[in-house]
Amino acid sequence: MTLKLTDIVLTYPDGDRTLTALDHVDLAVAPGEFTAVVGPSGSGKSSLLAVAATLITPTSGTVSVAGREVSAMTQAARTRVRRDHVGIVFQQANLLPSLTALDQLLVVAHLAGGSPRAAAARARELLLSVDLCGKEHKRPHQMSGGERQRVNIARALMNEPEVLLVDEPTSALDHERGERVVSLLAELTRRNDLATVMVTHDLGSLSAVDMVLTMRDGRLTAGDIRGVHSAG
Ligand code: ADP
Ligand code: MG
Repeated sequence: MTLKLTDIVLTYPDGDRTLTALDHVDLAVAPGEFTAVVGPSGSGKSSLLAVAATLITPTSGTVSVAGREVSAMTQAARTRVRRDHVGIVFQQANLLPSLTALDQLLVVAHLAGGSPRAAAARARELLLSVDLCGKEHKRPHQMSGGERQRVNIARALMNEPEVLLVDEPTSALDHERGERVVSLLAELTRRNDLATVMVTHDLGSLSAVDMVLTMRDGRLTAGDIRGVHSAG
């Protein structure tokens, strides 16, 4: 498994008490597999991604990324694993306002080191693969929400990650554009053999995913989509 979370518990301090955001969660995603986690707001989806991304250390349980057990690592080692093996697409595109689409990707490569020429070639190829041919020199305000989201996705793939984690990619898009982003993620997952986890509360665009899991009150179960519908 490229991504493996085992018996994860995550609690947040909540006044005098603690809030259990993840309650004994197990998750395993193989290369080339596109898993969706659906559930209502506040159910723990973003917390799950933050743990998988090694951004948050769980209260207990283990996280393994690309065959590396990160739980016992130093902060610096974990940061390297994240940079080299994990692509993260946050809900907000978080693009730098003054940079062109191409430069948004080159910044990432620059931070990771390596040849600028190879980075430029890869960035152009990635922009092509997310259908942004001809938009390389556009700045965020010159692009649509869907285009910005695709820059965001291309940027996450810049360092050739094995794991791709995507938080609510369709929330700012209309249904049709949302569906296109999800099928693009499916295509990129296959082509790059990624272990992809997408969390969403949008049940309308799940036809392209391999596996649907349901998150409710911090518990993850094999998905019954109708169960989620009836829960509102
Ligand atoms: P979702 O992404 O499904 O909306 P979250 O993972 O953001 O859910 O939140 C799960 C629960 O944890 C919610 O009750 C939320 O209020 C709480 N929570 C999230 N982040 C924090 C935090 N940094 N500190 C305290 N509580 C948090
Ligand atoms: Mg969330």
